[in-house]
Amino acid sequence: MAKMIISGEPAESTSGQWMEVRNPATGEVVDKAPKGTVEDVHRAVAAAQKALPEWSALPSARRGEVLHKAVHLIHEHENELAKLLTQEQGKPLREAVLELRRFAHTLEHYAGLAKNIRGGHIPQLDEGRYGLILKRPIGICGAIVPWNFPVSLMGNKLGPALLAGNAVIVKPASTTPLTDIRCVDLLCQAGVTPGALSIVTGPGATVGEEILRHPAIRKIGFTGETRTGKHVMEVAAQEIKRVTLELGGSDPMIVADDADLDQAVSAASVGRFFNCGQACLAIKRLYLFERIYDEFVQKLCDKAKRLNVGNGMEPDVRLGPLHTAGQRQEIEEQVADAVKRGGKVLIGGKRPEGVDYEKGFFYLPTLLADVPEDARIVQEECFGPALPIFKVKEWDEAIAKANRSIYGLGSSVWTRDQGRALWAAERIESGYTWINSAQIIYDELPFGGVKWSGLGKEHGSEALDYYMETKSVVVGSG
Ligand code: NDP
Repeated sequence: MAKMIISGEPAESTSGQWMEVRNPATGEVVDKAPKGTVEDVHRAVAAAQKALPEWSALPSARRGEVLHKAVHLIHEHENELAKLLTQEQGKPLREAVLELRRFAHTLEHYAGLAKNIRGGHIPQLDEGRYGLILKRPIGICGAIVPWNFPVSLMGNKLGPALLAGNAVIVKPASTTPLTDIRCVDLLCQAGVTPGALSIVTGPGATVGEEILRHPAIRKIGFTGETRTGKHVMEVAAQEIKRVTLELGGSDPMIVADDADLDQAVSAASVGRFFNCGQACLAIKRLYLFERIYDEFVQKLCDKAKRLNVGNGMEPDVRLGPLHTAGQRQEIEEQVADAVKRGGKVLIGGKRPEGVDYEKGFFYLPTLLADVPEDARIVQEECFGPALPIFKVKEWDEAIAKANRSIYGLGSSVWTRDQGRALWAAERIESGYTWINSAQIIYDELPFGGVKWSGLGKEHGSEALDYYMETKSVVVGSG
């Protein structure tokens, strides 16, 4: 049975209870993790308070070395970790490997910034006085992580938070705690001061809630649903905690009639079906110019039909199961609603048939046409392998429709006219726009949504600022 890690040591919960972690492809129990409690959060906070003076006093270069060492350990254990991730999350093994490499890359990126943490100096504020701008760690941070990319989304918080000298308490999703525990263990082995990094597993309603409420935890890095994010912000406000919120999305993709269609079709397929569509920045609405609509739809249908659906442990599988029965039910309801309102199923729209699919939460890749804009699948976030496709006449219509969403996470634009592409990128209300590119995340660029998609940034050197306090000092001549 897996254990939490508190004070650098494996720990069971004070509840003595365990949570089963099940494989979404087979329904089998992969392992059990402790069902943590409010007291377990208090233990982790006490450990962090003890460790913080030592960890934050280390030169940042030394903390960078610890992150570098963790990167080596993650690479060394890649196969074992990837299998565990596939078993608990459901994603194909090759995607699990990519996620672990992304996690390692993020830690490496922040390790590389270790000597670039700097404040400022204003030599002459007025006669006899100069100013200093100091950068200091915030203190203890909570990292609350969802189940869709449990490892890489944890890394987005740990990289900048640990490098900046904070202590961190991780709360993984209840359905995907196992790989996160192993990764935290490797970070501890790499030399994080015992107690400066803990992982407390358990329900959001108790463990998560206490992380939000505890006055000693000064910052919350949260990734999850917009509804939970609003709650996080409300509770954190009671203690004026800093928050970074990475929330839901409904990313539009616009393809103009001068685009490279084959590349765009590939990007649409990967963008929608990667991780079985359970990605915040998945392509969730596709807007095609009239002239290329038929050809594009045909090519995308052909491609999506070829995606091999099955257990992610099988080497040739491209689309694993949805993560839970609830996730699949939500997609089924959204598709049914679209059809009820006049939408047409082009491919998929149902579960695959056969004994191999009976125990898992499988759903076929699904493309929909003629879906009205008020359908749930357009208005809400669609967190599964279903994509509504729309016809547009020209750019202004495409941009207006793309912006008709409460979300503003990512967006993508396909055209050979670079000037037009930049014009569009300036007008689309999203935190990130890809031009003629698949939706790839880079550690070098800040990432974070606008509107209901979030607050603050992860990635980039910008994320470091979200894990540091800025303090000004005025120095007089005395
Ligand atoms: P949830 O909001 O349900 O859960 C996210 C995390 O919050 C889990 O660890 C959960 O714990 C915890 N949690 C739940 N309730 C509380 C609470 N009251 N207090 C504190 N913590 C709580 O999201 P999902 O796990 O369903 O994740 C999917 C969502 O994440 C999608 O909407 C997706 O778009 C979004 N996301 C956003 C990204 C971005 O960068 N913008 C990236 C990836 C995903 P438990 O599991 O125990 O319930």
